[in-house]
Amino acid sequence: MKIYDVIILGAGASGLMCASHLDNNLDIAIIDANEKVAKKLKISGGGKCNVTNVAVSADNYDGDMDIVTSTFDAFSKDDLLQFLSSYGVNPEVRKDRYYFCKKSSDEIIDIFKEKTRHIQKYLNTKVLKVIKKDNIFEIKTDKNTLKTKKLIVATGGKSFTNLGASDIGLSIAKSFGLKVKDFTPALVGLTLQSSEFWMKELSGLSCYVHIKIGYKTLKEEMLFAHKGISGPAVLSASLYWRKGDMNIDFLPNDNIEKLIKNTKKKLSSVIPLPKRLAVAILEALEVKDIECKKLDKKSLENLKNIHSYRFAPAGNFGFTKAEVSRGGVCSDELNHYTFEALDIENLYFIGEVVDVTGELGGYNFQWAFSSAFVCANSI
Ligand SMILES: Cc1cc2nc3c(=O)[nH]c(=O)nc-3n(C[C@H](O)[C@H](O)[C@H](O)COP(=O)(O)OP(=O)(O)OC[C@H]3O[C@@H](n4cnc5c(N)ncnc54)[C@H](O)[C@@H]3O)c2cc1C
Repeated sequence: MKIYDVIILGAGASGLMCASHLDNNLDIAIIDANEKVAKKLKISGGGKCNVTNVAVSADNYDGDMDIVTSTFDAFSKDDLLQFLSSYGVNPEVRKDRYYFCKKSSDEIIDIFKEKTRHIQKYLNTKVLKVIKKDNIFEIKTDKNTLKTKKLIVATGGKSFTNLGASDIGLSIAKSFGLKVKDFTPALVGLTLQSSEFWMKELSGLSCYVHIKIGYKTLKEEMLFAHKGISGPAVLSASLYWRKGDMNIDFLPNDNIEKLIKNTKKKLSSVIPLPKRLAVAILEALEVKDIECKKLDKKSLENLKNIHSYRFAPAGNFGFTKAEVSRGGVCSDELNHYTFEALDIENLYFIGEVVDVTGELGGYNFQWAFSSAFVCANSI
């Protein structure tokens, strides 16, 4: 049976980036369960792939800071933009922060298709398990068994199973004795305890907030949804939320004490939020919507909490709605400069399957591409 030099499991963002940077003289194959490559990349960012962010640092990630820092030192967001530009793809900045493709994610996918044209692809092929015999990896799939000298696991996380996602990467890592953290949904909306159901009544409304969670502050829009709360601020906050309280400043750009000073206006009309939202927040804070001047001491105290509304979410919307999976192969099992498992020669893990997860805003593709480049470069 033929023995490949390198087999990559997963033709997603990291697998394709890695394949694109491996030496052309190597005999390489990619295996993917989907009938097409890059299915997640294709639909990402509303079909325009938010590929990276103007400011990328280890602070934007949940995971081991050391591996994130060394990976971005080796392949930064500028390196990524330069790589794309060398193929005529120049993403544009939106909202002063996010790099999106101008027309569609296909701009990036087409680069990968071109750069991996010479590589054997086994599509519609589901990886079931991997064993290592006499220094050769044997990959059992639902169609065949393939052999390789080096194996790169780029099978991503468990979110959006309808796009081929699975936790096979973690099963493979575990079968080789590597430590893993089980996947949990992240970049996902949060459900509410009954005391906070007032937020559900506001379904469809959104506002700019600061959400504080531990030492993190997420500054973005929050969306009130039928099932709970969502929107960019909440999605990023979900990355850091385990259980317990979070804190919302509904008026981060104003000061409520200044807004109500020396005015006879009704409270809800001086709060610079949609009226329905202002009224609902006042109710939740147990403050009567009366003339500002008539507020008693207790109401004034309660009102200050509009800058720090504390509550504990109930849970999250689950893997079917989560953009990414937190957890993965523990980074202390990997060489930070190659992504090779420290104890299993020639076995590599890259992309989302590694225990590094980014905030919303292009950080996860940046990680997928940077880790893939570092791995390919080392091979
Ligand atoms: C709806 C959505 C929108 C997103 N938008 C953005 C965005 O705009 N910006 C951003 O930075 N991130 C975004 N993300 C996250 C981003 O897509 C992922 O973090 C990124 O794709 C991870 O790359 P990866 O190569 O590790 O995994 P993936 O790109 O998920 O690739 C893994 C591949 O492995 C294959 N695979 C899995 N199991 C098996 C198996 N058993 N056998 C064979 N093949 C298998 C899968 O089919 C898949 O093709 C989004 C995610 C979703 C779900």
